[in-house]
Amino acid sequence: MSSIQKVREVLALPKNIIITSHRNPDGDAIGSSLAMMHWLKAMGHRVTVAFPSEFPPLYNWMPGSDQVLIYDLDTEALNTIIDNAEVSIMLDYNSLQRIDKMGERLATKDVFGILIDHHLYPDPLGDYILSDTTASSTCEMVYHFMREFEHGPAIDTKIGDCLYTGIITDTGSFQYATSARLFRTVADLKDLGVDNHYLHQLIFQTMEEKNLRLLGHCIYNRMEILEEYQTGLFFLNKHDYQVFDIQRGDTEGIVNYLLKLKKVKCAVFFRQQQTIVKISFRSKSDFSVEEIAKNYFNGGGHRNAAGGYWKKSLGSAIDKLKEILPLYKEELNKSIYL
Ligand code: 5GP
Ligand code: MN
Repeated sequence: MSSIQKVREVLALPKNIIITSHRNPDGDAIGSSLAMMHWLKAMGHRVTVAFPSEFPPLYNWMPGSDQVLIYDLDTEALNTIIDNAEVSIMLDYNSLQRIDKMGERLATKDVFGILIDHHLYPDPLGDYILSDTTASSTCEMVYHFMREFEHGPAIDTKIGDCLYTGIITDTGSFQYATSARLFRTVADLKDLGVDNHYLHQLIFQTMEEKNLRLLGHCIYNRMEILEEYQTGLFFLNKHDYQVFDIQRGDTEGIVNYLLKLKKVKCAVFFRQQQTIVKISFRSKSDFSVEEIAKNYFNGGGHRNAAGGYWKKSLGSAIDKLKEILPLYKEELNKSIYL
């Protein structure tokens, strides 16, 4: 594997660089990609940011978000860009499967690859791999990657805003996956002029009315509590998608509300999308939903936040969860304080 010295050499002269992140990009995927784009452009590189699918409009305020290309929509243009790329930077994902068809195209290219990610079990992707499963976010890692370049471009407020976005979205505003190092990093960002109060408003206080009503619908009509297993679930069917005109990103964050219940340690959110049932998992303390997502729902992620999918009906996905929960009963009921 290459060293950081080799990365410095590769980036010493202007290159065609493609930055990619995962399907359904979240704050960390978008923040890390845009921060990296601004920084590399300041170095003189030609940079494209590409995601497999669109990002929620909530992030439209982010500097550079208007330049992002979406593989689902700009396939031809992106194929050409991938074919001409000399460097590929893969952010916030651990396997090319997470970027679908774009990954198949990228895999055919002989480029210098850099992977920066904090998910468990990263595939050996690229020539330089920065994998730290203890990092709060890819944004935190990107900040330290940038700091490795003594004579690199300044990390300005624009870059800081992007990095801070990924940090607060991936930590649930500093609730989990934090460390002393993270707080030092955030102190540095604050020194750079990042306005955390304003960013919190942009990210967490810009909901549309229909989204708050959808949250109410989930809580009032689509919630089931499995007390025996300290588990709570929400589900949305195809009809709900029509009635609430649910678009990409509209269901983001809803699963976390289940964790507000004292009696819920494991939270699961099933969404019946066009062809699959998409599932989000969240948990408290040391209960690993990553294991459940990986073993039973074709997914993965982190101990306390994971995702996956199910190819059959919504009902059978929920049944599957109910079938496996007894295997975790003891662990779910073993509690320290909660
Ligand atoms: P979310 O529930 O917010 O979509 O995802 C939570 C976490 O699980 C994120 O870290 C995300 O990367 C991961 N994740 C979500 N869906 C999948 C999936 O289908 N496969 C894998 N491996 N990870 C996923
Ligand atoms: Mn992340």
